[in-house]
Amino acid sequence: MLKVLTIDGPSGSGKGTVAKILSQKLGWELLDSGALYRLVAFGALKHGIELDDVDKLAELALTLDVEFKLEEGNELLVPVFEGENVASQIRTEKCGDAASKVAALTPVRDALLDRQRAFATEQGLIADGRDMGTVVFPSAPVKVYLSASAEERAERRYNQLKASGESVSIAAILDEIKARDDRDMNRSVAPLKPANDAIEIDSTHLSIDEVVSQISDALSE
Ligand code: C5P
Repeated sequence: MLKVLTIDGPSGSGKGTVAKILSQKLGWELLDSGALYRLVAFGALKHGIELDDVDKLAELALTLDVEFKLEEGNELLVPVFEGENVASQIRTEKCGDAASKVAALTPVRDALLDRQRAFATEQGLIADGRDMGTVVFPSAPVKVYLSASAEERAERRYNQLKASGESVSIAAILDEIKARDDRDMNRSVAPLKPANDAIEIDSTHLSIDEVVSQISDALSE
């Protein structure tokens, strides 16, 4: 049986953190599919490709020169794009915003399908994204849809930014989160939604440990 756990949900629902903890706990590979969309957006900005140039973006997605490498002092894999560690560069709001634009293009999504599926090995895989359970791994035995209220997600992001010394207003973050949700949930291709057989977890009032333990219970059933 395919050893894949899918975790889908909107930005800031905690899925990335939960996926990392579970991957370390279980020794399963981790697919951060959002990073692939961010890399396409980053590559487009780097090479001056317009965000509506579908053919060039699809070509870029298909030939994306990226390796996920373990670097000294870092227990997680870092994306090395065209020879350069771009882990922090792809995390900016600008890149996230551009990622959600290129992610709405069917040829870009199609171009990334095989690359994502190739992450599934016998070792086991935790696939984190928006369409992991609905499109990329529809036969995964355990699927999770992790959500949280937009206000709670804005507050989490605000605290993260504050801790890293950035000053942004919480109202601006909330607007951005709502705009991103709207784009991800209402696009015509692979819209963000729970798979029919997904376990839905609302993390608004849950700690990361509580979410990890609910998913661990589902995996051992
Ligand atoms: O998860 P992350 O914020 O890194 O994803 C960036 C953007 O990539 C999302 O807003 C979404 O539009 C897109 N994405 C997607 N499908 C995925 C993962 C991410 O459309 N499986």
